[in-house]
Amino acid sequence: MASDQYDVIIIGTGPAALGAAFHLTEQRPSLSILMIDKAPVCSGGLLNDCKQNYTFPIGFAEEYWTREEAERLLPLVEERLRPAIKEQKNLETYRRRAERVGAILYDVRQAHVGTDRSRLLIRRLMDELAGRGVRVMLECEVTGIREGDGGAEVTVGGTERLRAGTVIVAPGRRGFGFLQRIMEQLGIPYIDNIVDVGIRVETRLDNYPIVRDYYDPKFYFPERVRTFCTNSGHARVVLERYEDFSLVNGHALSEEKSGNDLVNFALLKTIGLKDPVRSGHQMALFLGRLAHEIGGGRPLMQRVGDFRMGRRSSAETFNDDLYSFRPTCPVTAGDLGLAVPAKIMRHIWAALKKLDTIVPGVLHPSTIMYYPEIKMYANKPTFIDPHFRVSPRLYMIGDGAGTSRGITGAWASGIRAAEGIVRAGGQG
Ligand SMILES: Cc1cc2nc3c(=O)[nH]c(=O)nc-3n(C[C@H](O)[C@H](O)[C@H](O)COP(=O)(O)OP(=O)(O)OC[C@H]3O[C@@H](n4cnc5c(N)ncnc54)[C@H](O)[C@@H]3O)c2cc1C
Repeated sequence: MASDQYDVIIIGTGPAALGAAFHLTEQRPSLSILMIDKAPVCSGGLLNDCKQNYTFPIGFAEEYWTREEAERLLPLVEERLRPAIKEQKNLETYRRRAERVGAILYDVRQAHVGTDRSRLLIRRLMDELAGRGVRVMLECEVTGIREGDGGAEVTVGGTERLRAGTVIVAPGRRGFGFLQRIMEQLGIPYIDNIVDVGIRVETRLDNYPIVRDYYDPKFYFPERVRTFCTNSGHARVVLERYEDFSLVNGHALSEEKSGNDLVNFALLKTIGLKDPVRSGHQMALFLGRLAHEIGGGRPLMQRVGDFRMGRRSSAETFNDDLYSFRPTCPVTAGDLGLAVPAKIMRHIWAALKKLDTIVPGVLHPSTIMYYPEIKMYANKPTFIDPHFRVSPRLYMIGDGAGTSRGITGAWASGIRAAEGIVRAGGQG
């Protein structure tokens, strides 16, 4: 076989792509496989905090998954990632308290790697794939895909052309623009109606001690608000930069590192847009730019005490006096109320108040609320089979295509696509 011709080309090296590559090499070792990534190392959550959730529905897009299907694949994900599952304590107490305020606490099997150790995990996975004969091209951007009768053609860097029997596209959430272009060029129908909008909360560990019992507690509140991505130990809020604005996110180092006694987590509201507004992505861009404008080019932060009194926070109060702490991500002190749509803020605040009755202390006046934390999902392709196939030779998987919302779900969606390819005889 010529070196520019492969049975399967996988675009991306994130968890969705890895899930597909591992399954294909296990089931069909003779397939020639090429993975292409524009980054120097596979990115996203695997490279960051790398919390792994092994309980449905966490990390899965429920519209495409049944519990049964997720539970069939999660053990296969676990086999590859070899997580050290964390022990949880006092769950019944938290669960009862949540029930009393109309919230649900999910009991999730969880593991946490930490930003400092995640590179080692990635190295092990990539070495294993190299040992199975998978070729990897890093720092190479895929710029186009074409489909023909005999196969598909993938363009790299605008000029280099590679051919494949089947192409799996797994570009993650940030690959939105690329995915959109490909769907339009190839005439793949899509829908776009979901966006998660919310805040990141940062507080002292003593104000949110539940994390000593449960690393990333998953609370679901009314009005589609949920806690997401909790970090503690040595935890930091970070910026995620986009073209014309920044969003906030969070991560933590492994337990081997000494702590800073802070916790951060997101509180997100899922918004399902209805006719005539259909683009969740457009709404996310609009909200991101609005926050950028109001924050003078940066996200906003406000102390809970100021928010309660209806006044903006000022930079001098972000100190570490006796009752306070410094922000790990100093952005613009201001007023969230000017940037967050009222309905979203109302539902998030209601959820925070409930959380404060479950874990008293989280609404301490010094607690910081950062905005915007937004999870964008690309326009979702219309799948033509249960394996996330979108056309005869093309599969679209992972967070970008909306089949997952986390590392384990993304990996599982890769396995599902690989199963489709295996069933079709190896080349889609
Ligand atoms: C800071 C941060 C922390 C997170 N922490 C967690 C966590 O702790 N736990 C959790 O479950 N989830 C976490 N997530 C979410 C998690 O990263 C995603 O759910 C998961 O990585 C999705 O996997 P994916 O394979 O779909 O996409 P990604 O992991 O995003 O991988 C997509 C890959 O495709 C590449 N790519 C994109 N476009 C192209 C192109 N045109 N050509 C070539 N390559 C391309 C990208 O460079 C990237 O490496 C976090 C996300 C972020 C940003």
